[in-house]
Amino acid sequence: MTVLVTGGAGYIGSHMVLELIRKDYDVVIIDSLEKGHEESIKKSKLYVGNLRDGKLLDKVFTENKIDGVIHFAAYSLVGESVKNPSIYYENNIESTRVLLDAMIRHDCFKIVFSSSAAVYGSPTTDLIGEDELTNPTNTYGETKLVMEKMMKRYEIAYGLKYVALRYFNAAGADLSGEIGEVHNPESHLIPLVLDVALGKREKINIFGGDYETKDGTCIRDYIHVTDLCSAHLLALQYLNNHRESNVFNLGNGVGYSVLEVVDMVERVTNIPIEREIVEKRDGDPPVLVASSQKAKEILGWCPKYNELEKIIETAWSFKKNYPNGYKEK
Ligand code: UDP
Repeated sequence: MTVLVTGGAGYIGSHMVLELIRKDYDVVIIDSLEKGHEESIKKSKLYVGNLRDGKLLDKVFTENKIDGVIHFAAYSLVGESVKNPSIYYENNIESTRVLLDAMIRHDCFKIVFSSSAAVYGSPTTDLIGEDELTNPTNTYGETKLVMEKMMKRYEIAYGLKYVALRYFNAAGADLSGEIGEVHNPESHLIPLVLDVALGKREKINIFGGDYETKDGTCIRDYIHVTDLCSAHLLALQYLNNHRESNVFNLGNGVGYSVLEVVDMVERVTNIPIEREIVEKRDGDPPVLVASSQKAKEILGWCPKYNELEKIIETAWSFKKNYPNGYKEK
């Protein structure tokens, strides 16, 4: 089976490509390399270009018999999306429209979509289920919700089948230590705290210390990137079995505060981490924790690396191997 992975050179995409190859799928990647890293993908066919380029997509679908698509390519920074909504509408929503149109033109009707917990906004329930009201608090989350709705409309119009996977906080790195999380500039919590451990940053700024949470800092549900990938494989199989379109949350069901993450990095690395509470970040919901019961029951998903300690250990191994990202080992 040949799978097209959009954004396959990005953080989650590159781990997905590796898992697909390990499971003997043929993989074709399209990535603009604006944020992705060519060094993170091995043994697969890469088309460099923008998803909004319908002609490039025609070439990809003509040159390869694509059986299904896993769609990661998107901008994904909450703070940036609030400050600059236009590029999120263009790069996330418009790109997805062009991709879906190309799929229909080339008779490809299966797509696994990288959605986000950000579609929910700021729910008040302890464990967020898929039926929770969707009310995004930031542009990023709104674009993910619109993309889900687009797929639903394409299902009605053309028979497209989709699985939308709403991830909570992707974290960690492949156990090989050879690929991991590299953003430039970095904005995600765990790699930033690890940079403090490496001595590349002086301290970690904690965005807000007076949320109504156990220690005043935001709570998130961290899920290992390889566990996310195993859910995508199961979602592909689910679509191959001609099942209905569906939406699943992916998380561990356990929330950790920002301070708990920083403390865990200290424990794993054995290095003291300087921290400072600073202003809240725009659009940040106080608590996001998943119920992934549905993915477990329907997809048979079983996350393997669900301890925060393990997640941080794998991220730390990668950071130590590639302290300056992929370019300079
Ligand atoms: N965070 C923080 N300092 C940072 C980066 C992130 O306090 O330098 C917090 C952020 O407010 C959020 C959590 O860490 O509560 C996870 O943020 P991240 O950007 O990693 O993922 P997000 O939750 O935005 O998807």
